Amino acid sequence: MLRFTAIKLCHDTHLNLAVASFTDHIHSAHAMRVPLLDLQAQFESIQEEISTTVNEIIASQRFILGPAVESFEAACCDYLGAPHAIGVSSGTDAELVLLMALEYGPGDAVLTTPYTFFATAGSIYRTGARPVFTDIDPETYQLCPVQLRAFLETKCSRDSNGALRDPNGLHVRAIMPVHLYGTCADMTALRAVAEEYGLPLLEDAAQAFGTQFAGDPSFPFAGTIGEAGFYSFYPSKNLGGFGDGGLAVCRDAALAEKIRALRNHGMTKRYYHSMVGGNFRLDALQAGALNVKLRHLDDWSARRRDRAKRYVEGFTKAGLTGSILEMPPQPWAGKGAENHHIFHQFIVRLKAGNRDELRDFLTAREIGTEIYYPVPLHLQECFSGLGYQEGDLPHSEAAARETLALPIYPELSDEQIDYVVETFATYFSSEPGE
Ligand SMILES: *Cc1c(COP(=O)(O)O)cnc(C)c1O
Repeated sequence: MLRFTAIKLCHDTHLNLAVASFTDHIHSAHAMRVPLLDLQAQFESIQEEISTTVNEIIASQRFILGPAVESFEAACCDYLGAPHAIGVSSGTDAELVLLMALEYGPGDAVLTTPYTFFATAGSIYRTGARPVFTDIDPETYQLCPVQLRAFLETKCSRDSNGALRDPNGLHVRAIMPVHLYGTCADMTALRAVAEEYGLPLLEDAAQAFGTQFAGDPSFPFAGTIGEAGFYSFYPSKNLGGFGDGGLAVCRDAALAEKIRALRNHGMTKRYYHSMVGGNFRLDALQAGALNVKLRHLDDWSARRRDRAKRYVEGFTKAGLTGSILEMPPQPWAGKGAENHHIFHQFIVRLKAGNRDELRDFLTAREIGTEIYYPVPLHLQECFSGLGYQEGDLPHSEAAARETLALPIYPELSDEQIDYVVETFATYFSSEPGE
């Protein structure tokens, strides 16, 4: 371990600093570790509640849909203020089954952001429809309403039947904003565009369960603002299960019934299939565990926000904000909704230094980081057939190059945050030419 550290440091481009802090590093290496995510601590705090619930479900032997799933769906409707909620097998499947219910397919297009997790566009593609990307707002990282409107105004047109067509002749069916990193896209502005063009808003709220949109005085929850939305309970999400899980929500009762049928092979009456669906069911054990976790969500969100605040204060005090680091945008702060940001991720943007070098520097000091997302979706190999080139969506490309995700979770300690800030300060104090 020691030798490994020494070798690693010799290759460090910040050689002087590395040698200077070498002894310190050895002493602190085991004392301070800041993993990107630590799910163990959270589990320990709810282990008993979880065991009781999971044991009850096992004792009942009702593993497929049934009371556990129904009760979790009801709890979600209650929490989110959603008229209908349908538990499904993952966030990806929640999106897919929603798009299947809307009957999008070959010849159709859904407008969305390229700066998101792959599933957003992947599920659109799997229906036979095509994702059509417009760029993000560089200040917020969210789908930009201004550029979206410009695309509709200048690149799309109505055919003789009044259908909206994109430049490739695809029928534009919907707009899919993503509430990236735990705060909301500008749903007021996006709604105005959607209404003008008669398009439904389908929200990817996979990273925003519990986020409230403070741009609207009633503070609606992310995912419930448009016609439909979906969430992910992937273990690392802010409301994460013990495996895969997801949820679709919508306003329309008929659409909800259709999603319900499609998640179970398009079956409304047992063994009678009016549509071709799939097995997109939420597991009862996951529903039970998630129901327990949902009761703690507000505490965890508050704690995440508090952790983010300590980061921002720390970086500011260390003189690293502004020309060196951009702090996570909080576009809806100060408008009265506590949950305007639930800090699903804590993303900094580097205005100076080299991101990959910084990342190595942090890794060597046991600080976990991640890049969300290194390749914007319009440049993914599997979408090369869509015809995008590098430079087409420059704000997304810049965000992919310049941002870094830091550890954030409710159990992250003051000492861990301070250590991350100090390590950043050390790195930047040794920047050549500074
Ligand atoms: C996680 C995620 C998904 C997919 O959810 P899974 O449950 O992993 O299938 C979709 N969109 C975004 C933005 C996500 O972060």
